[in-house]
Amino acid sequence: MYDFIVVGLGIAGWSFLQVLEENHQNFIVFDNNSQQSTRIAGGMYNPVILKRFTPAWQAHQMLPYSLLQFKKAEFTYQQKYIHDINIYRKLTGVEEQNNWMAASDKPVLSAYMNGISHESIEGIPAKYGFGVLYGTGIVNVARLLDDATQKLEKKGLLKKENFVYDRLEIHDNFVQYQDIKAKYIVFAEGYGLKKNPFFQNLPLTGTKGEMLMIETGVHIPYIVKSNVFIAPNVAKKGQYYVGATYNWQDKTNIPTDEARRHLTAKLQQLLHAPFDIVQQKAGIRPTVKDRRPLVGTHPLHPNLAVLNGMGTRGVILAPTMAKQLFNHLVFDLPLMKEVDIKRFRTDSQ
Ligand SMILES: Cc1cc2nc3c(=O)[nH]c(=O)nc-3n(C[C@H](O)[C@H](O)[C@H](O)COP(=O)(O)OP(=O)(O)OC[C@H]3O[C@@H](n4cnc5c(N)ncnc54)[C@H](O)[C@@H]3O)c2cc1C
Repeated sequence: MYDFIVVGLGIAGWSFLQVLEENHQNFIVFDNNSQQSTRIAGGMYNPVILKRFTPAWQAHQMLPYSLLQFKKAEFTYQQKYIHDINIYRKLTGVEEQNNWMAASDKPVLSAYMNGISHESIEGIPAKYGFGVLYGTGIVNVARLLDDATQKLEKKGLLKKENFVYDRLEIHDNFVQYQDIKAKYIVFAEGYGLKKNPFFQNLPLTGTKGEMLMIETGVHIPYIVKSNVFIAPNVAKKGQYYVGATYNWQDKTNIPTDEARRHLTAKLQQLLHAPFDIVQQKAGIRPTVKDRRPLVGTHPLHPNLAVLNGMGTRGVILAPTMAKQLFNHLVFDLPLMKEVDIKRFRTDSQ
């Protein structure tokens, strides 16, 4: 008998496994490689919304715990994942300069937003300078998942296969899947949740995102944000991540010419230097109608749980959401009401 079956090894599933290990729970994981969101994500953490200069929901509160979990993973896997990198937000005029300075004085924002820099960044002219953010960076989530996959495989804890929902037998105090019995099952399938018959009522919309990896001769030491992001590829010097797009119609992981053209055009406005596109990738962000995570248990089967809806901010949200779900399942602690899937229950459920 296992304590947990976990379906999905993206950042949500991985975060849950961290909590299970901390609490000496045994588990088995399924992953069918159908979703790519975490693997292709930029892995940026940034508690400030750079369009409106406002704090992202709960980011200031959750970021320290996320960084702690990634730090622990660095120790476990003897690998560096966290790269502390400033974000330079290119300012478009005097009005934005004023707005930046006004926002920098506000509570929460003042912890991250600093003054305006007129430092010159090779290939990126900026007449009005850059608003500088501190306490931001990149977590190399793709590398982290590779390392976690390897370790789990070695221990025989990962089944690289499709979890077939109609083979799940649900009993009062346990679930059974083929010859595997467990006290609980946690579904963390990202956009794959759409195929999960147990949580069909949840309004997971899904937003496709595409990114380019480019090579350029200029050196950009920061994450620069204008109408696209350009960020150093922490895994390879001279390469930069450019992204991302938002598409609410197409739900495939297939890279498109349209996104490539769109990102190239935006990048040409930002970067005045030659570049080569070396890679293009696409994935579906598990976004939700009300932009809050989806955490909680099935209305009839309390041993079936969901950990999803990390949207555009998996790096910041997933570790705290995983901890909350574990504490809820095992210690009966309440979930934050904003993330509890009970908010979508109808009278009949
Ligand atoms: C282009 C792009 C850029 C992004 N940039 C950032 C960023 O800079 N910072 C940030 O914080 N977030 C970013 N995000 C968002 C972030 O990637 C997501 O919030 C996060 O990846 C969601 O993680 P997840 O584990 O819920 O889902 P996923 O990463 O999609 O993982 C779900 C896993 O479940 C598996 N699965 C699904 N169904 C089944 C099944 N039936 N059986 C077995 N396995 C199954 C899938 O194969 C997959 O491995 C970005 C996303 C995109 C697309």
